[in-house]
Amino acid sequence: MESLYLVYAAYGDTGAQNTIRAQRSMPRNLIFPGTLLVLTSIGCIEAPPPSPQATTAQTQPAREQKLRGEYGRYRANNDLLYYHLNIRVDPDKKFIAGTNTIRFKMLQPDTRIQLDLHSALNIDKILLGDTPLKYERDSGAVFVDFPQTLSAGETYSIDFYYSGSPAESGRFGSIAFKKDPAGRPWINTACEELGASMWWPNKDQWRDEVESMAISVAAPNDLSDVSNGKFLGKTDLGDGYTRWDWLVQYPINNYDVSLNIGKYEHFSDHLGDLPLDYYALPEDLDKAKKQFEQAKTMLEAYQHYFGEYPFKKDGYKLIEVPYSGMEHQSAVTYGNHFSNGYLERDWTGVGISPRFDFIIIHESGHEWFGNAVSAADRSDMWIHEGWTTYLESLYVEYRWGKEDALKYTSGYQAKVKNQEPIIARRGVNATPPADQYFKGTLFLNTLRSVINDDKKWFALIHDLFQRFKYQNIMTEDIVAFFNERTGMNLTPIFDQYLRHKDIPTLELKRDVVQHVISYRWLADEPAFAMPIRIAINEHWQVIVPTTEWQKLPAATERDEIRVATDLYYVNVVKD
Ligand SMILES: [Zn+2]
Repeated sequence: MESLYLVYAAYGDTGAQNTIRAQRSMPRNLIFPGTLLVLTSIGCIEAPPPSPQATTAQTQPAREQKLRGEYGRYRANNDLLYYHLNIRVDPDKKFIAGTNTIRFKMLQPDTRIQLDLHSALNIDKILLGDTPLKYERDSGAVFVDFPQTLSAGETYSIDFYYSGSPAESGRFGSIAFKKDPAGRPWINTACEELGASMWWPNKDQWRDEVESMAISVAAPNDLSDVSNGKFLGKTDLGDGYTRWDWLVQYPINNYDVSLNIGKYEHFSDHLGDLPLDYYALPEDLDKAKKQFEQAKTMLEAYQHYFGEYPFKKDGYKLIEVPYSGMEHQSAVTYGNHFSNGYLERDWTGVGISPRFDFIIIHESGHEWFGNAVSAADRSDMWIHEGWTTYLESLYVEYRWGKEDALKYTSGYQAKVKNQEPIIARRGVNATPPADQYFKGTLFLNTLRSVINDDKKWFALIHDLFQRFKYQNIMTEDIVAFFNERTGMNLTPIFDQYLRHKDIPTLELKRDVVQHVISYRWLADEPAFAMPIRIAINEHWQVIVPTTEWQKLPAATERDEIRVATDLYYVNVVKD
């Protein structure tokens, strides 16, 4: 989610102005005859300077990024099974202390494993049973050494004791010790960007997830903690603190693990037998009761397309926070001002986003893509963001029909920059550019048009979700699934959109003497051969251009040629 906020924060009003300009200057489906015209995304026409991300992606990764991002020997030699994070949080001192019990199975015999903890936090001790273990810290990495070789196939459990004042950094602070508007403590976590090891010790990468997790958070008696999973109960510790116990009964990303400590009021509802639990500040309770009603339609829509809500035993929660929002598994955090749109804006600029609460719809969509189906490396984060942005348009389609969904999705064209590929460098914890959201959804909409059969498309995306839920996958897994199920070779299309910065350009040339229209794709992928819908004098047809010239008969020199650029995200050049 967080990159979305970056875009908003970085461009502010400019984004909205670009969108307006886009609507004025670029009617959909229209190619002006005669002069050379390039239909492209507004991001390209008014290209902002490259982001700092773009430059760092091309340089050598810093040692700490490599330590974080590389799935090396001491990560790959074990498989995570379970965490029990058990901590006490002191709001006044901005201090955390506690343990993470880490259970794992060894896959290779070895004497060392790699965990992570930000250097601002102290390691108090690491125990295997009663035996203190030696460890070595290297920036954020913690290499834990065992006195004897751990055997492959055996399960081990260590207790990692830590304490300290975490460094608040990253867009949402990673962990932020704030006050609510009434001056009461309000402590929240959102650490996708920098990693969960900003505030607790874990194997901080994307490939391996625990199968289940217990979260115990002790906070001063007058506050409550809302974390992920099913609420098990609270215990008064007798020293002014109460411990809140939660149980996550599914695999979970490290960055999804969340604590929310505040003066929360709780109210509940249900959708069939799925419990819905909502948490808001006392002053916002009435607004929350009204706005959070949208969660039901959201769940109905996504269940319609993909099947049952994937974390049913843990329930679904919405929790008010001071930042825009985050997809914390089964505990989605919400800070969208109890208003429709995104931070009170029309997010894709075409009048549709103000009909719904963007944060409820987007962040909850991640329960399907991001939380249930997860990427195994941060480089392939479009599996979270591109898909979830596409889920927004499915929500629009479910509520208001396909035409509005296409309009909503086309509105994203103004946000795409096409300056670097969506898939970033692997193994270095690299964050892909914001195009992963906007170009990601435009690509999936294009892929749907390539399939050209909505019934087939909906079966494909439903089955894709069911095939990969609770797994950590890479783009190759999605491509292989689509190729196998369709019998088509879609690899060059995936590769062009995800692994190159440029989108394909459909080149059209009219020969007024011969009465023919020549066409081909200009693309980086030599085997790029994507079908596309064009109309000659309002007669729509699907042609299959390749990177070689082909010809179509044309009736007159005044033929009007149109390309379905709402169905396919492409450039069109007409000569
Ligand atoms: Zn997101």
